[in-house]
Amino acid sequence: MLKQDVQMCDLCGLVVEIDGFTVDIKEGKTLKFCCAGCLSVYRLLNGDNIVE
Ligand SMILES: [Zn+2]
Repeated sequence: MLKQDVQMCDLCGLVVEIDGFTVDIKEGKTLKFCCAGCLSVYRLLNGDNIVE
């Protein structure tokens, strides 16, 4: 069975299987992460680029 619309974690590259770990950035894109850990690491590294 092929999965459609597979999303990759924008931090570690793993397949995102759970929705909800997303962040909007200033470039107008929404990044997806596989887990709360990747999301929080991205926030630490790129806090200036995140739209709250
Ligand atoms: Zn990840």
